[in-house]
Amino acid sequence: EAKANGRHTFSVFSAAETHLLKQRMQLRQELFNALEQRQFVLYYQPQICAGDGVVVGAEALLRWNHPRLGILAPGTFLPILEDSPAMAAVGAWVCEEACRQAREWEGMGYRLQMAVNVSPRQLTDENLPALLKALVERHGLDPESIKLEVTESMLMQDIDKAAQVLRQLMHDGFHIALDDFGTGYSNLSYLRRFPINTIKIDRSFVQEIEQDRRCLDIVNGVVAFAKSLKLSVICEGIETEGQRSALRSTGCDVLQGYLMGKPMADVEFRRLLAQSPKPKRSEEDCWEPEQ
Ligand code: C2E
Ligand code: MG
Ligand code: MG
Ligand code: MG
Repeated sequence: EAKANGRHTFSVFSAAETHLLKQRMQLRQELFNALEQRQFVLYYQPQICAGDGVVVGAEALLRWNHPRLGILAPGTFLPILEDSPAMAAVGAWVCEEACRQAREWEGMGYRLQMAVNVSPRQLTDENLPALLKALVERHGLDPESIKLEVTESMLMQDIDKAAQVLRQLMHDGFHIALDDFGTGYSNLSYLRRFPINTIKIDRSFVQEIEQDRRCLDIVNGVVAFAKSLKLSVICEGIETEGQRSALRSTGCDVLQGYLMGKPMADVEFRRLLAQSPKPKRSEEDCWEPEQ
C-alpha cells in the first residue's frame, strides 16, 4: 500500500511517531521485569468518615517506580499489563502488600479497612477467594478489614463466574465495593445479583455537584436506595470544600478525594493518621449504614 502512494512514502511513520513507538515498546519490555525488580509500590488514599473526619479506610493504588521516569500512575501501564499474563502475579502482589500494610497499621493502633482494586481476570479466577483467605490468615487479619473494589464492566464480562467468586468472598467475610458507580449502565439488577457492601459513587457526579442540580439529586437518590438495601455509600473525587459541603446533606457515609488526601506513600500516610481525629467509637460504624 505504501508503494502505491509513491516512492517517497517509504515509511508510514514519521520520525517522531517511530520514537514514540520505540518508547512504548521499551516500556512494555521493562514492565514485565518490574515485579521481579521490586519496582511496584502501593500508594494509599485516605477514606474519611463524613460525620467526624476519622480515617476509616485507605484505597491501595498501584504505582510503578520506574528507574528513569519516576513514579508512574496506572493509566500509563495498567492497560498493557491487563492484557498480559503478568497481571495475575502483579494482582497477587497487590493483595499481599495491601494485607501486610493493613496489618502493620493495625499493629500501630489504626484499624482501617483496606480497599484493594481487583482486575477483571482476578474476579473470574476461582482461586482468588482461597488466595485472599490464605493471605489474611498469614497476616493475622480479619477478612472484614479487606474491601475488594470491583467495577460493573468487570461483572458484565463473565456474570456467572464473577457472581460465584464474589459470593465465596462474601461468605469468607471479605467486603465488596462497587467502584465507579454511575459510569456504566448502572444496571440495578447487579445490586440484586451480586453480593455488595458498598457503593462507590463515581467522581464525575461529585465534580459537577455544585453546578448541576441533577448531580446532587442523583447522589441523593443513590444514597436513598443504597440505604434501603443496607449498603454503605462512599463518594470519590472530592476536591473542594464546596463539594464536601454539598455532599453533607446527602447522607453519604464516607468521603475520598484530593481534598482529604491524595494517594501517598506509607510514610506520609502514617503522618496523616497521626494528625487525624481519633475515633470515639468503633471505626467500623461508618461502614454500617444507619437504619
Ligand atoms: P479507581 O479505583 O477508580 O481509583 C480512583 C482514582 O482516582 C485513582 O487514580 C485516584 O488517584 C484518583 N483520584 C482520587 N481522588 C481524586 C480526586 O479528588 N480528583 C481526581 N481527579 N482524581 C482522584 P489512579 O491511582 O491513577 O488509578 C486509576 C485506576 O487504576 C483506578 O481507578 C483503578 O481502576 C486502577 N488501579 C489502581 N490500582 C490498581 C491495582 O492495584 N489493581 C488494579 N487491578 N487496578 C488498579
Ligand atoms: Mg477503586
Ligand atoms: Mg473509582
Ligand atoms: Mg476505576
